[in-house]
Amino acid sequence: MTDKNYEIISEDIRTDSDKIIELKNCNEQFFIMEGRRKKYHILTYGCQMNEHDSEKIAGMLTSVGYEETDDEKQADLVIFNTCLIRENAELRVFGKLGEVKGLKRNNPHMLVAVCGCMMQRQEIREKVLKKFSFVDIIFGTNTIHELPMLIYDAEINKRKSVGIVDDTKSIYENMPKRRKFKHKALVNITYGCDNFCTYCVVPYVRGREKSREPDDIIREIKALAEDGCKEVTLLGQNVNSYGRNLDKKVTFADLLYQINKIDGIERIRFMTSHPKDLTDDLITAIKECGKVCRHVHLPVQAGSNEVLRRMNRKYTKEHYLSLVEKLRKDLPDIAITTDIIVGFPGETEEDFLETIDMVKKVRFDSAFTFLYSMREGTAAAKMENQIPDDVKHKRFDRLLEVLYPIVLEKNKECLGKVFPVLVETVENNRLTGRTEHFRLVHFKGSRDLVGEIVNVRITKVKTFHMEGEILE
Ligand code: SF4
Repeated sequence: MTDKNYEIISEDIRTDSDKIIELKNCNEQFFIMEGRRKKYHILTYGCQMNEHDSEKIAGMLTSVGYEETDDEKQADLVIFNTCLIRENAELRVFGKLGEVKGLKRNNPHMLVAVCGCMMQRQEIREKVLKKFSFVDIIFGTNTIHELPMLIYDAEINKRKSVGIVDDTKSIYENMPKRRKFKHKALVNITYGCDNFCTYCVVPYVRGREKSREPDDIIREIKALAEDGCKEVTLLGQNVNSYGRNLDKKVTFADLLYQINKIDGIERIRFMTSHPKDLTDDLITAIKECGKVCRHVHLPVQAGSNEVLRRMNRKYTKEHYLSLVEKLRKDLPDIAITTDIIVGFPGETEEDFLETIDMVKKVRFDSAFTFLYSMREGTAAAKMENQIPDDVKHKRFDRLLEVLYPIVLEKNKECLGKVFPVLVETVENNRLTGRTEHFRLVHFKGSRDLVGEIVNVRITKVKTFHMEGEILE
């Protein structure tokens, strides 16, 4: 028995509709008449999941004849791919929408679309439709495949188009993607989340957890490898529970073994691991799969058992520490990074000191640190004893005073050592890449090396990056 309650749709959504064909034809006509293609510009907010959704949006637009521009002033279509995780990201979207209103005034033919997590919330959609009435298209995280149809309605039928589905029982395969990098790629393995951490909106906006079929994932990664991709990052809100609701019995560890066999792929990363589902089998798989990077991002969020309980994280401080011990015993060189939230409702000074103690005990290689941000509709937003901003900020600063010296010390351990680095970008003959432990390294070299894995000796370290020199 499985609790699989969805179907997989594997259709080529680019060609199955008259509207899409007509939109393509219109865009071709535009090209012939104007001597240029219509341009789109995507503003992406939030996590890697959103970054990858933007690659799908870009793929959909390319397939109907648009081309990308970095300059929003040149764009015929501006898309906001929004994030709802923190209030800050939400406010930035509203601020930027205000700016784009001016652009649209100068160029009335420009289409403006808003999508992503914010649009999954009815009250925010209504706010956008009311306050930013110039927005032409609204779609959600489950309706990216409908974008050409929505553009058709806005552009050809001249009507505001809204495409929202609260949750979906389908996974849409074969969506075209326009990848940002040739040498590395993001690959969804699950969508949605079942965990309902009390501070988090994801289960409400991205729906319940759904795993892709392993064959579809393997097929996608093989195609990426054939296209020159060397590194894949497997994406899911909780990759560790991958496969739980599939008919075929397959775990995340099983999937890693299969991906490890794909020729051409040299590095496998994954994001994010929930500590409650990190199994011994998975640790063994990381150890036995030579291509899996020695890096685990394992969000701890807090050090106090009482706060963890109220966050509904379903593990204790002791359990987390035992996982760290197991990981380091089996994989002595593993890098462990984390997420920490400061100022969760009801967090006492003693609770906060437990977080500090956790940081000192684990000695994280790096951490993303956040001030708790109240999100409407979550259980934590209704909790009493919200922490005043000044207390949150002071605790946040105190956390960094402990965390950053540890991160720097960990980086110092790399001095003089040689690491394979996948070169990702180049600027003025300065290359930037990452070690398998996810450390950022800058070094001099030729732009031809972008996409290659080169050996770099570390010569200098800072808290957030290292510098080095390529070995001949
Ligand atoms: S595991 Fe928790 S924090 Fe992560 S997406 Fe799911 S509910 Fe949100």
